Amino acid sequence: MLFRLLRRSLLFAVLTITSQVGGLVYLIYYPLGRRIAGKVKNAWLSRLTRLAIFSGLMLLTSLVIVPPLARQFGRVPLPLSANSEHPLRPGSWFFVVANRHYVKSPLADLLKETANQLALKYSGAELLYLDAGFPFFTGFPLLPHLSHDDGEKADLAFVYRKGDSPQWQTSLATLLGYGFYTGPRGEEFDMPERCASQGYWQYDLLGKMAFKHPDYTFDEAANTYLIRTLVRDKRVRKVFIEPHLKTRLGLSERAKVRFHGCRAVRHDDHIHVEL
Ligand SMILES: [Zn+2]
Repeated sequence: MLFRLLRRSLLFAVLTITSQVGGLVYLIYYPLGRRIAGKVKNAWLSRLTRLAIFSGLMLLTSLVIVPPLARQFGRVPLPLSANSEHPLRPGSWFFVVANRHYVKSPLADLLKETANQLALKYSGAELLYLDAGFPFFTGFPLLPHLSHDDGEKADLAFVYRKGDSPQWQTSLATLLGYGFYTGPRGEEFDMPERCASQGYWQYDLLGKMAFKHPDYTFDEAANTYLIRTLVRDKRVRKVFIEPHLKTRLGLSERAKVRFHGCRAVRHDDHIHVEL
C-alpha cells in the first residue's frame, strides 16, 4: 500500500515537472484507470488500455484544453507546423504534448518573423524550436532550464545541411535537439574544457547522453544570418551561444550575444534567445 502510494506520488511529480499539467491529468485519469484494472483480467491488455487512455487524455488536454486557458496567463503556443508565412515548427512533438512550447506573444511573433526572414534568405530552411516555456504561472521553471519560467525565453535548433549537399536537414540532430555539439577547433577558445576543469561536470553532460545522427553539417552562413536577425531585433535582450561560435561566426562585436556561464550547459548545440 505504502509502496503504491509512493509510486503514484513519484509519477505525479514527474508528470508535473515534465509537462506542468500531466500530474493533474493523472489525478483525473486515476479512478478510471482503477476501474479498468479491476475489469480487464489480462495484465498486459489492462496496461496497454490504461496507457492508451492516459495518452489520449494527455493529448486532448495539451491540444484542446490548455491553449485557450494559457491565453488567460498571457501565453500562446508556438506553431505546431510550418507554413509559407512562418516556417517555424517544433523540433519534436514531445515539446507540444508536454506543453513546453508556450511563450508570450511578442516572442512568438519574433520567432515567426525570424523564421520567415531565414526562409527568404535561405530557400527551404525552416526554424525548429526546442524547449520554450510552460503555459501557466510565472516562476514555474521548465526543468532543466531554470531561466525558462516567464514566457520570454526559447531555445532554437541551429540550421544544418545534409552532409556536403545543399539540402537542409529537416529534423533534429538528436532526439530532442540537445547534445549534438559543434565544438571548438584549432586555436578557438575552448569554454567546455575550461568549465570541465573548474568542476562543472554537467556542462557537456547532454553530449554524453544523446544519441547523435551523423551527417549534420553546421551551416555557418545560415546560422550567422539567423543570429544576426535575432539580435538586430529590439525585442531581443540576449542570445546565448558558446564563445567559440560567437568568434567563428563573426559576432564578437554583438553585445547581445553572450556567454551563459559554466553553471548552465553547452550552447553549441542550440541557440537560447530571450526578450
Ligand atoms: Zn534556453
